[in-house]
Amino acid sequence: MIELKSASELETLNRANCVVHRALSAVREAAVPGVSTFELDELAEQIVRDSGGEPAFKGYRGFPATLCTSINDVIVHGIPSKAARLRSGDILSVDCGVVLDGFYGDAAITVEVGEVGEDAQRLIAITRQCLNDAVQQVRPGGHIGDLGAAVQQRAEPAGYGVVREFVGHGIGRALHEDPQIPNYGVSGRGQLMKPGLVIAIEPMITVGSWRVRVDDDGWTARTEDGRLAAHFEYSVAVTSDGHRVLGLEEQ
Ligand code: MG
Ligand code: MG
Repeated sequence: MIELKSASELETLNRANCVVHRALSAVREAAVPGVSTFELDELAEQIVRDSGGEPAFKGYRGFPATLCTSINDVIVHGIPSKAARLRSGDILSVDCGVVLDGFYGDAAITVEVGEVGEDAQRLIAITRQCLNDAVQQVRPGGHIGDLGAAVQQRAEPAGYGVVREFVGHGIGRALHEDPQIPNYGVSGRGQLMKPGLVIAIEPMITVGSWRVRVDDDGWTARTEDGRLAAHFEYSVAVTSDGHRVLGLEEQ
């Protein structure tokens, strides 16, 4: 069931997402060679709690941390670890969820660590553009299929793969609500977007195959072929005249 949000609920969702982006900005600055993903996780948790929120991922189906930290061939759901120290040339997807006053925020960025190769830079740039293209399709009267179609039209002509196994989602009083938001689709198909719908759009794009394998820890999702992946996510509200990306006001 899709729950549309009121104006006051949207404001709370926006505040939750402001906390997410505050944590992501700090992690972006701190993600330098030699730092462990455990240290980045501690930093994010401190910011989330100082902001009056709680980490949303910690304890979610047993996930142990505030952030998902996914390095290089890890697409999503990497677990922060003292052993995982960043090296120059790595790319790191950082995904953060927060619950604040009963509402959830969820966003992700992929950051470059030190000096990164041209292939990785291009992957990151195109993945960010996939997200922006999808966001531009968010409007009343549009369809969910418009979003995935926009992602595919950006990624596939560039030679990249679009991950199928994981999808975006509605967000609100729960971290994952209906509807699902696949990163593939056909324009004009799927559910109709109405004002008050809030969705997390999160393209996961790969240099090679989009096939996924999950490590024995049950979380860490890698590309099957070991090649690079990138991931960006925004929580976005459908408004009466278009859309609003949540949590960016204080940037
Ligand atoms: Mg996320
Ligand atoms: Mg999400």
